[in-house]
Formats: sequence, structure tokens, C-alpha cells
Amino acid sequence: MTGDAGAGDFGADGFGTDGFGTDGFGTDGAGASGYEIGRALRVVGSSSVVRLVPGGGGLVLEPAQERPGDLWIGPGWVDLHAHVYDAMTVISVPPDRVGLDQGVHVVADAGSAGEATIDGLARYVVPAAETEIRAWVNIGSHGLVHLRETADPSFIDVDATLAAIERHRSLVCGVKVRSSGAVVGAMGLQPLQLGKLVARQAGLPLLVHVGEAPPLIEDVLDLLDEGDVITHCYHGKTGHPWRPDGTPVPALARALDRGVLLDVGHGAASFSFDVAERAIAAGFPPHSISTDIHVRNIGGPVHDLATTITKLLACGLPLENAITAVTDAPRRVLRMDTPDSEWLADNGAIRHATVFRLAETATGLRPAGEATEFGLAEETERVYVDSRGTHREPTHHILPVATIREGRLRPTAPRHRSTTRT
Ligand SMILES: [Zn+2]
Repeated sequence: MTGDAGAGDFGADGFGTDGFGTDGFGTDGAGASGYEIGRALRVVGSSSVVRLVPGGGGLVLEPAQERPGDLWIGPGWVDLHAHVYDAMTVISVPPDRVGLDQGVHVVADAGSAGEATIDGLARYVVPAAETEIRAWVNIGSHGLVHLRETADPSFIDVDATLAAIERHRSLVCGVKVRSSGAVVGAMGLQPLQLGKLVARQAGLPLLVHVGEAPPLIEDVLDLLDEGDVITHCYHGKTGHPWRPDGTPVPALARALDRGVLLDVGHGAASFSFDVAERAIAAGFPPHSISTDIHVRNIGGPVHDLATTITKLLACGLPLENAITAVTDAPRRVLRMDTPDSEWLADNGAIRHATVFRLAETATGLRPAGEATEFGLAEETERVYVDSRGTHREPTHHILPVATIREGRLRPTAPRHRSTTRT
């Protein structure tokens, strides 16, 4: 994860079994927010303590002796499922608002654009954002301009979708299909079958939204191949693919054996603490942690990627695994995992990184609870809510502090709690 050379030895030697590795360091000395160059940091996946110093044409890490407090550094975060076709679709949010402002270097827009609308994403949204953007092209031609995007056969055009992928090869990371009853209606499995046809022809993975039947989850899962991604994997709706003991139903077990990947995709209605806790305890953690952030959940219960990571920690996922699920794992899905894309260059220079706090107190993480249109008035800065209205009080909270990209340190923005665009 860290590369193997440079201005210090950051070789991974473990976190201990509690998953947090705060032994001996405590949480003092980190400050309430922000990061000053030179301050001690712990490295994700390592026991090293480092500081950032100018060098290598930007910033490099050098070993530090002092106590590191609760500040950490690791590769730049990636959100594999978000909605950032700002001003075009009814649900999208501005990319930087959920990207670099919140510690996220790369956001993959999940089907906000289809073949008929992706040119606008490429021409107007991508160049205007500092945050790097990838796109899962929706098999529905209009994308999420409206939310029944594949309910009619005339909304799908296989050849035009393949042509759009060829026009935007560097932007498109795969094909998005929402395969649940509220979306596909009488079309059943056809959108998924056609999405798979396009994806295999283009040599790209599928990102498949699963939800309520029809189609039956077994029929959906049996169509997926190695490298395809199931998003909303821990949703708690009727017909989800988990047994009460947290093990997968046979169709999901077969899919996982084939190399199909689990993505969280929290969303407004698609994450259950109970389902996630049981699956993780049974040995089925997520491959990637993503938000499915959009205008209807950015004010709660999703808020941002850091909040979603914290929820997975609360479900028993160790810190190192959680960070891998927002860094190396989604980068592999997006094929951003070449040697030249390692977060540390061979000379120790930082190509991309996210600095974050692992706080044992929630003070300052989020303003105290406020009623929203989702009735989450009980939510407070310590209490986290899933898509089912179930609460948890995590013992550790992830808070992004800064991003570093190509040598430049960029503080994250204060947290928002409103769904209004700023
Ligand atoms: Zn989504």
C-alpha cells in the first residue's frame, strides 16, 4: 500500500487486533482541526510515525520522534458510488462538496449520466471540478434525469451506449444498472442483461444496484461475473441476500466465489447496521465503502464518506481494512492501480494522500442533531443513524483534515448539515 522506498521505511507491520492501534499514543496533541506542516502523523498500514516536510518538488514524509496524537495519513480516498452530475440530474451534488472538501480525491458518479447525457458531464462538470471524476454510465440513456430510467425498452440503446463509452474511455469506469423493482418495472432482468452485454463488449465491470424484488436477487446475482460490483450490499429491505447469521444466501456465495465484489453504497435507503454487523462478523466485509451520496441523503443519514467509514468501524471493521476499502480496493476497480499511481513515489514524494483524525470524542465532528426532512431529529454528533433509522454510538470517529495532491496540501472544508447547495 505504501510503496517500498523513499524518505523512510513505512513497511506494514500491523495494527494489533483491536484494529485501531492507538496503544501508547493517546489522542492528545492533535488539535481540533486542520493540519500544520511538520506535525506528527501515524501511517495507515504501518507503525511508523512521520511528519510532512517540503521536498521532492512538493511534500515528502520523514520519520518523526514525537507522539503522533490521533492524526493519520494514508492514500487519497475514493468514493466508488456518488452522484455528482451537478445541475443536470435532480439528485446530484457538486463534486468538490463531496470530494476534496471531505478528503475524497476521486468520486465515481454512479449512473447519473447515460449515453444521451454523458457528453455534458464530460464537457461541463469534470473540467470545473478539482476533484477527479470517473463515471459508471447508466444503461438507461437519460441517466438519472428521472428515476425510472430503464422502465421502458425505448430508454435503452446498446449501440449508442457502446459509442458513448468509446467517446469517453478515460472517464467511463463501467456500466451502472439499477436492478430493483421500483426502477425496472415490467422490464425485469432486461436492463441488467443489456447492461452486461454492453459491459462485456466494452471490457468493463458492471455496478449493479440491488434492492427490492422483482427481479429476484438470485436471478440478478447469477448474471454477475468476476470484477462486477454489487452496490447497496448491506441493504435491509425484504429479499436481501444475507441469512440471519450473516452468511450469504447460496446465490451470493456463488457470486463471491466467482470474484464479484461487495460495495456499501449507503444511500438514503440502502444501509442496515444490523445486516452489515452480522455479515462482517461472519467474515464477509465490504470490498469497498461508498456513500451513494446525493441531495436526499447529504443532510443525513449519509453526510459524507468519513461518516460512512465511521459506521463501518462501528460494525466491527478494523481501521486498516476500512481505509483499504476507500483507497486501494476502489482504485483497483477503477483501474487506477498502476505503479505510477501509488500514493508515495519512489523518492518519497506524496502523489496523493488524505490526512484524517481518528477521534475518540465526537466533539467538533458534526453539529448537534437537527431535524431534517428524513425525521432524523434524534441524530446527534455522537449518534449515527443508518437507512433504517437504527442508531449506533461509535467509539471512534473518522474526520478528514486535509488532502495532498501532487505536493499541495488542501485543508478540508467544515462539515455541512444542510442539503442546500453552497
Ligand atoms: Zn446511487
